Amino acid sequence: MERRTALRFRRRLLTELGQRGQLLGKLKRSIAEQGERYIQSGGAFTNHMAEAATEESDRESDYYLADNQGRVLGEIEEAIRRIDSGNFGQCELCKKPIEQKRLEVLPYARYCLRCQEKAERLAKN
Ligand SMILES: [Zn+2]
Repeated sequence: MERRTALRFRRRLLTELGQRGQLLGKLKRSIAEQGERYIQSGGAFTNHMAEAATEESDRESDYYLADNQGRVLGEIEEAIRRIDSGNFGQCELCKKPIEQKRLEVLPYARYCLRCQEKAERLAKN
């Protein structure tokens, strides 16, 4: 991949890193606030069981989102490191170049489309 193209991806990844980092911060604050409310309301021993259940599932989805964001953030950091070490855009499995179209959609992709599909099939079994 041309250096110029790689640097363009690097800028995009840095922007995304900042945005997702902010979102993760918000999610973590929200989780902390919900946890506090939960404790203040007396935990599970509340008279408003339905409300508590809603809060519980809100908290779970925030956890899930935060977890997911954290993982993507790690992937983005890895991709930036790959750009800096000069092997960005190369499939980690077959070592062939990852389709540029795929990188435009998912700049932190580790694998080419074929290897990704193969990996997903393996994960399902
Ligand atoms: Zn591959």
